[in-house]
Amino acid sequence: MKIGCPTEIKPQEFRVGMTPIAAAEAVAHGHEVLIQSGAGVGAGFADTDYAAAGARLVDSAEQLFAEADMVVKVKEPQAIERKMLREDQLLFTYLHLAPDPEQTRDLMASGATCIAYETVTDERGGLPLLAPMSEVAGRLAPQMGAWSLQKANGGRGVLLGGVPGVSPAKIAVIGGGVVGTHAARVAAGMGADVTVLDRSLPRMRYLDDTFGGLFKTRYASGGNTAEAVAEADMVIGAVLIPGAAAPKLVSRAQLSTMKPGAVIVDVAIDQGGCFETSRATTHQDPIYEVDGIVHYCVANMPGAVARTSTLALGNATMPFMLALADKGWKQACADDPHLMNGLNVHAGQITYEAVSKALNLEF
Ligand code: NAD
Repeated sequence: MKIGCPTEIKPQEFRVGMTPIAAAEAVAHGHEVLIQSGAGVGAGFADTDYAAAGARLVDSAEQLFAEADMVVKVKEPQAIERKMLREDQLLFTYLHLAPDPEQTRDLMASGATCIAYETVTDERGGLPLLAPMSEVAGRLAPQMGAWSLQKANGGRGVLLGGVPGVSPAKIAVIGGGVVGTHAARVAAGMGADVTVLDRSLPRMRYLDDTFGGLFKTRYASGGNTAEAVAEADMVIGAVLIPGAAAPKLVSRAQLSTMKPGAVIVDVAIDQGGCFETSRATTHQDPIYEVDGIVHYCVANMPGAVARTSTLALGNATMPFMLALADKGWKQACADDPHLMNGLNVHAGQITYEAVSKALNLEF
């Protein structure tokens, strides 16, 4: 199969769909890999790295889309890319179709077969191609929060780990899933006094069994959450209700109970945010202040560490990419129901129920 990986063209997207490692594996499986020249630069991979992996560099996206049997990307195809998709082509990337009728219409019109990273599942009910980005965002959250806590950035001027004789910062992490667990581990590793609040007792049992001693767990009742928020130097929002907007767990009125210069890092901002005062920000202008509280609400946090994110995503997508290339999408999906769950569009039809429901389209 000819596998093509174009340069991402969505603004501020520096990741790339295939690493040189993935390219080398695909070549070793007997496939031809086409990489658009410059595609890996944002993630720190030079054209020469791909050439050394056995890939062929092509000059333009037009040439790549015209030749490739399968296009592997990171972000959903932009309008100009959607025009280049063909009926017999396979697209493997993040799509997030439910809130995007325009993209959905174009993908249906293209006739291409589109497998979305975000709906591929695993045997434990997880989302293996979303998890790496939650891991990245979670581990990045205390780092960005620590920066926001610095005086020059409007914060309280508190060092996460304290120093001998001075107490460390208190951090409340609301939501103990993938993001919350990774945030808590890194924050605790930096020496902070960390409490994770969640509504799932099984999850808190798991966290306590696994990390007991490193950080505390507390049931996320309204009262407990309010108390933890008022005591914290930093609050990290990491809740998710699958398929729904994030619940607002901290009101504007509650900001007045917080310490002046305390920091909110709302990782759940991509689902609308779990603080009433959250609004999405960008890496260029990441923080703002409301009632003396610094808010960091970047909606695509993994983009800040494009190299790590690309490598993490590449590790997760590679086995699926190879299965699709080796067997063709029909056989690969027949053999693996979890990959089949990724199929969102085929031959002009929506093939994923939640998307068809969200957009009121035939399933
Ligand atoms: P997850 O499903 O692994 O974890 C969510 C956790 O929230 C679960 O443990 C659940 O029990 C808990 N929860 C749900 N409602 C709660 C409540 N009312 N109070 C306390 N806990 C509650 O999800 P995840 O992968 O950790 O993702 C968390 C959020 O981070 C999602 O909104 C996701 O979209 C977002 N995210 C954002 C970025 C970014 O760049 N901003 C990157 C990755 C993920």
